[in-house]
Amino acid sequence: MSGMFGKAKSCAECNLVLLGEMGCGKSALTVKFLTKRFISEYDPYLEDIYSSEEFVDQQLVTVRVMDTFDQDGPVNCERYLSWANAFLVVYSIDNMESFERCQSYLQTLDQRNKTFKPQAPIILLGNKLDMNRYRLVQVSQCDGELLASRFGCLFFEVSACQDFHSVQHVFYEAVRSAKRG
Ligand code: GDP
Ligand code: MG
Repeated sequence: MSGMFGKAKSCAECNLVLLGEMGCGKSALTVKFLTKRFISEYDPYLEDIYSSEEFVDQQLVTVRVMDTFDQDGPVNCERYLSWANAFLVVYSIDNMESFERCQSYLQTLDQRNKTFKPQAPIILLGNKLDMNRYRLVQVSQCDGELLASRFGCLFFEVSACQDFHSVQHVFYEAVRSAKRG
């Protein structure tokens, strides 16, 4: 892998991959991070890589974001397993199915981190926090924390349609954790 936080400080790079069930808000989070805007309707079948120059802790980093589309969970994952420096595994707090889907992603990534070097840190991310009032019957914050601790990942809850800085913070934490290795 070339130049990932390499010797020349000016050419740091970090590849982030967003994974999660269709509809959990991966594209909305990606667009929010890149443009500060919430785009409510986004082609659900679109998968793409975006690039942005970001200052993270006073260091210029080329952050590349792969906004994935997986029909059936973690199958055909070769395209991102070796490319990624860090993963954001996303679910929607108002959707238990999307949370369960995260477990299969986390298992796949756990295997990946046993075979690939360097390791790629993982952040578990509950999205749609604005739907908090509906979540009593869905995914609690405690559920998220437990799952994250089982797989040794960081955990956050955000909303793609609310505060930009909370979303930016999560992406920056992913960059920081990749830097730490
Ligand atoms: P993806 O399939 O994971 O890329 O999901 P999308 O980003 O396309 O979002 C799926 C749907 O959830 C869209 O209708 C979005 O408007 C909606 N959505 C995404 N993020 C949020 C959020 O934080 N809050 C709410 N209420 N809706 C969201
Ligand atoms: Mg999408």
